[in-house]
Amino acid sequence: MTASAPLPFVRLRPEAPLGLRAAACLALRAPVVGCAGCVSACAGGKLTLGVGGPALAEGCDGCGRCAAACPTGALRTPGFAVTPAPQAAAIELECWRVPAKASPRDSLRLPCLGGLSAARLLEICADAGKRPVRLLDRGFCTDCPNGGVADSHPAAAALSEAKRLLTAVGIPEALHPRLHAAPLPAAQRMAEPQGYAVEQRVDRRAFLGALSARTLAAADHVRPLGLAEADTTPAALRERALPEERTRLLAALRRLAPDAPLPAALFPSLRVGSACTDHRICVAACPTGALFSYERGEEGGIAFLAAACVACGACARLCPEEALTLAAAGNNLRPEQAQVITRFSRRHCPECGSEFTGEEDTCPACRRNHQFAQSAFGALFGNRSL
Ligand code: SF4
Ligand code: SF4
Repeated sequence: MTASAPLPFVRLRPEAPLGLRAAACLALRAPVVGCAGCVSACAGGKLTLGVGGPALAEGCDGCGRCAAACPTGALRTPGFAVTPAPQAAAIELECWRVPAKASPRDSLRLPCLGGLSAARLLEICADAGKRPVRLLDRGFCTDCPNGGVADSHPAAAALSEAKRLLTAVGIPEALHPRLHAAPLPAAQRMAEPQGYAVEQRVDRRAFLGALSARTLAAADHVRPLGLAEADTTPAALRERALPEERTRLLAALRRLAPDAPLPAALFPSLRVGSACTDHRICVAACPTGALFSYERGEEGGIAFLAAACVACGACARLCPEEALTLAAAGNNLRPEQAQVITRFSRRHCPECGSEFTGEEDTCPACRRNHQFAQSAFGALFGNRSL
């Protein structure tokens, strides 16, 4: 498949590091789904959702908790693309609110441990090899200015998901990432995180990582792994934003356990019933590119790539014919190969000459015109037919 340019992330405020890839946002693409994962994750209350999608108030310092919670990878904050130092005996992750001088040498410093997604954690574990991965818990989180988390650590959900996936591919518990209590006096917590500018001076590697991440789209080309070209059309895929976090997660699991099958529970399945009339509203709604149109010779229809599907349900919710059935853990046998799920013959409409797919005699536009004329005639002249 030809490499394609990624769709861009656009900053939600010029001075804030948070970027949105609007094409991937469920709130914009399929408001009916009611996604507000980012808003709930922003403990500082800086994010709201309006008709234009996520909106950001002043004061966001890029902790990344919203991005870690977003199911489609529509949000991004820089500062999380970290690589363990080869000489480090253990991989220790540290928050930017901890003074650099109090951090262990070679620790990986991040805007906030709560901004780590499960995919990022798995990537770090894959880089770590047999070395332990510890998230240093300094006891600062409960009353963090970014918004405290009273009953759990802000990284708890990502840690639990990472552990679940590592267990599923047979990685022993000793190699799972874990919280490591290493309290510091509360007075040492920085009122302002050692932000991007300070961090860049402190660590050249972090500087370069943050800099490249700050371009927001630069390293972001993502494509489904192992996509079989014969099953799809690259042109259709080029239009779509594919879920970066998903691709990261699958690649990390492969590196961690090359011989283990990827957990079936990661891959949804989608069935199409006979009620489908090829509207392709589902394709337009899909935020990840998991559903896309294809054309092949005299036929066309919809193809589905389970590896890109995040089971958001937008396609099934928006299908006017209720023709789609989604199973979140579909036990899909070939999740990384796009599968053709509808096939319609392509033909020319005898009335307007336009090309369409479907089993009807005329194209959808002409059928709608007929229906409109029929109902207008009925309204004017009662039940007499045209
Ligand atoms: S969590 Fe992601 S998909 Fe959902 S509303 Fe926020 S940006 Fe959009
Ligand atoms: S195929 Fe359906 S459920 Fe899967 S990501 Fe696309 S819209 Fe969501």
